[in-house]
Amino acid sequence: MARIAFIGLGNMGRPMCDNLTKAGHDVVGFDVVAAARDAYAAAGGRVAATLAEALADADTIISMIPTGKHVRAAYEDEGGVLTHARPGTMLIDCSTIDVESARAVSKAAAEAGFIMVDAPVSGAVPAAQAGTLTFMVGGTAEGFERARPVLAAMGPKIFHVGASGNGVALKICNNMMAGMSMVAISEVLALAEKLGLDHQTVYDVMTVSSGNCWALQNYCPVPGPVPASPANRDYQPGFAAAMMLKDMRLSQAAAATSGAATPLAGSAAALYQMLVEHGHGNKDFSAVFALITGRLTSA
Ligand code: NAD
Repeated sequence: MARIAFIGLGNMGRPMCDNLTKAGHDVVGFDVVAAARDAYAAAGGRVAATLAEALADADTIISMIPTGKHVRAAYEDEGGVLTHARPGTMLIDCSTIDVESARAVSKAAAEAGFIMVDAPVSGAVPAAQAGTLTFMVGGTAEGFERARPVLAAMGPKIFHVGASGNGVALKICNNMMAGMSMVAISEVLALAEKLGLDHQTVYDVMTVSSGNCWALQNYCPVPGPVPASPANRDYQPGFAAAMMLKDMRLSQAAAATSGAATPLAGSAAALYQMLVEHGHGNKDFSAVFALITGRLTSA
């Protein structure tokens, strides 16, 4: 059993805490926003009023917070994790952040004597609730082996993908693929409609043909073929367009820094930006089909 301080009690953090607790770990949660702490306490969770209090007895720290800026502040600021954590504490950041920040925080952690891994997740809130997240872990072999039993309480698929920062690098690549393929299948379905094909026929044939992809098979952007997909409930997420825009921007920043050519992803990112700018950032990212076909209902 680990004594875990969990930083960030948001949409993902809360259910991740619940599964850690169910697995028998001793969890104390902390969030900078009092309302998030209160909501977790009201649901039976144990909360700390300050970060220092959360870290006082912890042997493992997990963070699930929005961006690289937040992660660097939480760990590196005066009064942050690197000042308050007990020597030997294992540090695990599960946030989806930029590669540079992930590598910089891990380096600062190592310099302060801690082992840290980046362990971002694939799978949104339902997977966090069900304990079926996929983890992509960047860090040393020792860090991976120490993180693995804790991560196992939140998801069964745990991959060691290389050195620090490689976890978020792979996560960014994965979401870039998901973002592009959703745009691609949306354009295909829009064209198929104009050519007189119905959605179900396109789905039945393409899912067993060379045009098959995850976005079509599991997250079909038109109502009907996949009953659980957000298209059947006016694009309630699921995975919000604003989140996809954030991840597509991370991919474009990484491409610019590394010199990779990603013209298709750039176009897809522009479409998600349009969706968000039209006031649909809270809709599922598959609403890009409604954007492309001019069927967005007002925000
Ligand atoms: P969220 O906004 O619901 O929650 C984030 C929480 O972190 C907030 O409650 C915020 O107050 C808190 N926070 C910010 N800075 C903090 C700090 N320094 N100390 C303590 N708490 C702090 O976001 P979320 O949906 O839970 O996403 C968290 C991370 O997980 C993001 O990086 C996101 O990209 C990633 N992610 C989200 C999903 C999803 O479907 N929501 C899926 C995969 C990955």
